[in-house]
Amino acid sequence: MSFSDDVRQELTRVIPSARCCRTAELSAFYDLGGFLLGANNQVMDFNNSSPLVARKILLLLKGLYPDLPTQVLVVKSRSRRAQICTVRVLGRAHAGQVYQDFRDQSVLGDLEIPRKKCCRRAYLRGAFLSSGSITNPERAYHLEISAEQSRLAERIIEIINSLGLDAGVTQRQGTLVVYMKDGGQIVTMLNLMGAHNALLRFENVRVMKDMRNQVNRLVNCETANVDKTVKAAMDQLEDIQRIEETIGLEELPPKLLEIARVRMENPYASLQEIGDLMVPKMSKSGVNYRFRQIREKAQQVDKLNTKY
Ligand SMILES: [Zn+2]
Repeated sequence: MSFSDDVRQELTRVIPSARCCRTAELSAFYDLGGFLLGANNQVMDFNNSSPLVARKILLLLKGLYPDLPTQVLVVKSRSRRAQICTVRVLGRAHAGQVYQDFRDQSVLGDLEIPRKKCCRRAYLRGAFLSSGSITNPERAYHLEISAEQSRLAERIIEIINSLGLDAGVTQRQGTLVVYMKDGGQIVTMLNLMGAHNALLRFENVRVMKDMRNQVNRLVNCETANVDKTVKAAMDQLEDIQRIEETIGLEELPPKLLEIARVRMENPYASLQEIGDLMVPKMSKSGVNYRFRQIREKAQQVDKLNTKY
């Protein structure tokens, strides 16, 4: 089973205790997979591809409206794997009542998001169960909820924002996809929806990944430093050699001659190590300065050579 399936399965078992939140979650199921049907809206359908989600929808409905006449239909689509489970509310008055309750509890602003924070969390859970998915964190950090209508996508983003998170939106095959890519934000989102087991698994992977990255960064950094040290030392040795082969090292002022000798004896030493070998000891920048003077001398020698 995929990580996404695990999260969905966990969320089908989360039943909010408050009536307001049950209504909110149901309204998400309705917004993302539901319809009022028939000439007089005498039927309200909730569609989902998962029987577990359909069962949850039925539980939520029966909890809120014990005498509601309902029907469950399962339609297998021609492509063998897909199926549509429909929970149907029968009767115009009943469907109308449920619909009205949805509208009543979500009237915050133009996008009609649930008034209460608890209900917004429940709405996100319903939206995720309707059309959401999450990538295995081993592969990438990605959580998404797709919505066919832009108004719904906006509503989902608005809810996510109202809970202090950020979501992006993109289009894929005519459907809008609200997505999150930040590991920390996805963890918060899982927490808000109530997927606590999935959250722990996600966090474990994240900690391991962070550690691996940190180790890699350190190793890379160390390698880069060593490379730099060796390259600098090779350049310095080349300068010294050029002076030796042309005018002779004895032409160097004593201070430069001394450091040139130390370098020749310690070809792989860092500037700091060279400084420590000097008598008296020298700072790294002092050593660097003397090597720059040697470089200038070597360049002068080069010019002389090309002249004659
Ligand atoms: Zn609530």
